[in-house]
Amino acid sequence: PAGWIEVICGSMFSGKTEELIRRLKRAKIAQMRVEIFKPMADTRYHDEDIVSHNQNSIRSTPVNNSGEILLLAGDCDVIGLDEVQFFDDHIVEVCNSLANQGKRIIVAGLDMDFKGQPFGPMPGLMAIAEFVTKVHAVCVNCGAAAHYSYRKVEQQQTVLLGETESYEARCRSCFHGQN
Ligand code: ADP
Ligand code: MG
Repeated sequence: PAGWIEVICGSMFSGKTEELIRRLKRAKIAQMRVEIFKPMADTRYHDEDIVSHNQNSIRSTPVNNSGEILLLAGDCDVIGLDEVQFFDDHIVEVCNSLANQGKRIIVAGLDMDFKGQPFGPMPGLMAIAEFVTKVHAVCVNCGAAAHYSYRKVEQQQTVLLGETESYEARCRSCFHGQN
């Protein structure tokens, strides 16, 4: 029997990691063999744990590239990936072949970068997934549902690891400076 792919996407602070941890903990309760990976690039809170902004955490394995996941995921039923936007485009094929082997793949990642552009492999993953869940943050400016990650600092590179000192969640009108 084939597996399937679930995508959890949204802006920063939208609860992607929380939702990923929730699904993975339930899979463990169901006696599934669960493995969790994150890109080596993301070490904001912890080298090995995945930690949400409300300090929920789960043990993970940092990997350098998507190919390593194929090598390490052989023995499990459920695979969780956080910060999946940081992986190379090959991650789309990796997820597809793991799902074809019968595994349940749950990936969480930013669907847009700080400019509001689709982020790396996310559009490809959303296209091939059976299930896509978009979660929303709260706009820090007006309290509406936010789906943009607004960068508060000057740096222009796409990847700038940071937290509330560098980013805030904003709704459409506050992101475009209309409020
Ligand atoms: P993500 O992985 O999407 O960045 P997390 O799951 O790590 O998000 O964190 C979600 C938590 O962040 C919320 O439950 C809440 O406690 C906190 N939080 C901080 N700022 C905001 C905000 N602007 N909107 C919603 N939640 C926020
Ligand atoms: Mg997160």
